Amino acid sequence: MIARKTFAVYDSRGESLGELALRLLDEQKKSWKQLADGSVSLDAAQVRTVECSGFNVKLQWNAGRIASTAAEVDDKSIRGRKCFLCVENLPIEQKGVLFDNTYLVLCNPAPIFSRHFTVSHVQHIPQSIESSFGDFLELAQKSPRFSVFYNGPKCGASAPDHLHFQMSPRNAIPVETDSVDARRRKVLKKSPSVALLGLKRYGRSVVVVESIDKDALSEFFGKFLSSWKCVLGVPEEPMLNMICTFREMVWRLILFPRVKHRPDVYFKKGNERVLISPAAVDMGGLMITPVETDFRRMDAKMIEEILDEVSLKQKALDQIIKRL
Ligand SMILES: [Zn+2]
Repeated sequence: MIARKTFAVYDSRGESLGELALRLLDEQKKSWKQLADGSVSLDAAQVRTVECSGFNVKLQWNAGRIASTAAEVDDKSIRGRKCFLCVENLPIEQKGVLFDNTYLVLCNPAPIFSRHFTVSHVQHIPQSIESSFGDFLELAQKSPRFSVFYNGPKCGASAPDHLHFQMSPRNAIPVETDSVDARRRKVLKKSPSVALLGLKRYGRSVVVVESIDKDALSEFFGKFLSSWKCVLGVPEEPMLNMICTFREMVWRLILFPRVKHRPDVYFKKGNERVLISPAAVDMGGLMITPVETDFRRMDAKMIEEILDEVSLKQKALDQIIKRL
């Protein structure tokens, strides 16, 4: 079944994963109408920058994202639908690049970026960063022209039952450049192989973890998750969005700890409703608004309130770091 869908198989001796993905995109834009329509919708998208207190946010009005932003992700809805990432349910026109015999790189038919891919596990297994963290790092390493991001099953993943990541062009998400700005960076903890940093005046909880050592980074991330679970007193994966880059041999994790998936304004009725459903890209400073009135009316105050509302509080984050 996978073979029928496969456009190309990534092999470390051949073309890079990024090159194969771009070739797939070119080919799919010609052969797959849904993707061609999604690209047209992205081309028509408008972007404006809002200056907030200490940081800027870009708003993208992208009507093609309505289904994703408004997706029902509760257990009942998920059980009642056909999983759109399972190979047997992919549209007949959709093809992919097989990576490590484990993941399929697919073009996202409702793109936020001109080059936007979903990297989906070939099996229907639940979204979990603990089970896939090594793969996440490897994917970033194998595709340095891109950034790789992960949305937790309860805060942004539209398929919480099927393990997947996404890839965007490098530096397309504002936090990627903000996180290397020396004026913003604040070292919170440092060992010979891993550095933990915060970002000053950023209006939301965020930690940046950097390392050139994959094993040390994995160990550190495991400890961070354990500490976080202890602070919350829960066994399951805490709510998080995370972006990973690999530049000049350094892995950089940008992690947004969350307490809430959607802000209260999402659930209001009528004209008061604001259709915004923050995930990694939005937390990273590129907020997607599929509805024009929301795009027009969102201002610094509303953005600051939403980011604060859905983020883990600083006090809890301090406790997690203290336990490390
Ligand atoms: Zn599935």
